Amino acid sequence: MSCVSFRLDCICGEFILVIDKNLNALPRRQTDGAVIIRCQDTPDAKARIFKLNATPKDPILVERQGGHEKQYRFHCPRCALPVAYQSTPPPVKSGPYLYVLKGALSQIQGQVPADAFEDEKLLSENSMT
Ligand SMILES: [Zn+2]
Repeated sequence: MSCVSFRLDCICGEFILVIDKNLNALPRRQTDGAVIIRCQDTPDAKARIFKLNATPKDPILVERQGGHEKQYRFHCPRCALPVAYQSTPPPVKSGPYLYVLKGALSQIQGQVPADAFEDEKLLSENSMT
């Protein structure tokens, strides 16, 4: 990883997320203000490189204008606070986007564990063959 990485911790201090871009620079959902992280490459946009350290829980239904939205939530492994969700069942990145509930997390720049991206690298190497 040559680019700057950003780390986000839960308010309890648990390491939750490491990502290649400042979360403040990413788009947000109008409905709930959650930060949108692209998980899959499309013809006109590349997926973000990130790693989420969180525990998947049962999906919940959220009321939205004109219907319901199913959210598969991820919780902090230490204090069980919800930190992110996606619209598809676990694992992380099974759907096009991951949504991060940013209120629960604080961003720390430049303190990324050295091995944080190790399996991500393997993943992208494999998918290129
Ligand atoms: Zn926590």
